Amino acid sequence: MRVLIVGNGGREHALAWTLLQSPQVQQVVCVPGNGGTATLERCSNLALSPDDFEGIARFALVHNISMVVVGSEVPLSQGITDALTQQNLAVFGPTREGAQIESSKAWAKALMQEARVPTANAEVFTTAEAAKTYVRQQATPIVIKADGLAAGKGVTVAPTVAAAEAAIDLCFDGQFGAAGYQVVVEECLLGQEVSILAVTDGLTIRPLLPAQDHKRIGEGDTGENTGGMGAYAPAAIVTPALMNRIQAEILEPTITALRDRNIDYRGVLYAGLMITPAGDPKVIEFNCRFGDPEAQAILPLLVTPLEKLLAACTQQKLEQFPPLEWKPGAAACVVVASEGYPGNFKKAFPITGIEQAETTGAIVFHAGTQRKQQVLVSDGGRVLGVTAMGNDFEQAIAQAYAAIAQIQFEGMYYRRDIGYRVRTVSSPQN
Ligand code: AMP
Repeated sequence: MRVLIVGNGGREHALAWTLLQSPQVQQVVCVPGNGGTATLERCSNLALSPDDFEGIARFALVHNISMVVVGSEVPLSQGITDALTQQNLAVFGPTREGAQIESSKAWAKALMQEARVPTANAEVFTTAEAAKTYVRQQATPIVIKADGLAAGKGVTVAPTVAAAEAAIDLCFDGQFGAAGYQVVVEECLLGQEVSILAVTDGLTIRPLLPAQDHKRIGEGDTGENTGGMGAYAPAAIVTPALMNRIQAEILEPTITALRDRNIDYRGVLYAGLMITPAGDPKVIEFNCRFGDPEAQAILPLLVTPLEKLLAACTQQKLEQFPPLEWKPGAAACVVVASEGYPGNFKKAFPITGIEQAETTGAIVFHAGTQRKQQVLVSDGGRVLGVTAMGNDFEQAIAQAYAAIAQIQFEGMYYRRDIGYRVRTVSSPQN
């Protein structure tokens, strides 16, 4: 089997690495890939842009690609799946219509309301004045969301009406381009967030291990939102009983509602949930692809061959697929970023110590890296994702940090408290 992966982040490196654990996968091609996928065995990079659908289709047809796996939401929302399936290619990732579950928060909210999926109460506005009038009548904190894709930056949890009004102005002033000209104003939910990544063929849906991530840049979950600074799986807060509720109350009704709209959804449905203090799961948002960094913590624990699971989704054979098998224990991923991220940062700093880090048993996934004349250099805000597995979370996280201690580049930054909630819960027993 030959697989083509579209994307260049840590998630795509983790997908390539996991696919290549199977001897059935002869070759993986990453478009465009990064410094990590460039040096994996049986893996190569192809310098095409993820929005060059014609170029990708031509390459895939000429090189007998059995399946295309789309990593990021941007090409999905631009219709890469529609374009490639027209050429009879098998694609893991929803069509443009299905990707609206992530690319339009108003669309997703309407779908959830129709399917009676538990979520925050919300109203949608197309003018700043109407949104502000509404906000003045609501309790604070309140959540303001730009409707469209805004690279994780379009959401403000506003502590006061003034902050909410400022966030509304930012949206309508064009801060997020067209993505902000429609705004969702939403009730603020309290509780613990969890990420449920589920795979689906549009008929059946199967959750992967539950994960938790850390979105803020600063320790103690403070400071600006980022793409994600670390993740771990499985998340103990999701008991088997809670997972059953998530399946019955959220995943299945959502897939049914998509099908009712004649949407052929084959890919990942990622539910970002709040587990309320009463223990009820409510949807904060849906994404239409693997979470990053969650995928970097979840996928290394998968024993079931990933290519078989994804192919069962593209072939609509998920119902007959055997139960997923997982390694025992836990995995933790700590993201190593460039100084200044998520704001301005410098790049092109040489990175050393990755081989030494990997001798500890950790896996170093590359996100923003590039090879320049044989030298590995930083090339993005999030640079590496260091994943380690262990008998339990404590062991996994200690190993991830031990591996990071071997790595150096100028201005490297990482949070030292990934998984602190797990440790807070487990420490009284130690
Ligand atoms: P999103 O881009 O929708 O995932 O939102 C980014 C982050 O904003 C989430 O991970 C939450 O921490 C926070 N958030 C979004 N919606 C809500 C909500 N209704 N209540 C509380 N926090 C929220």
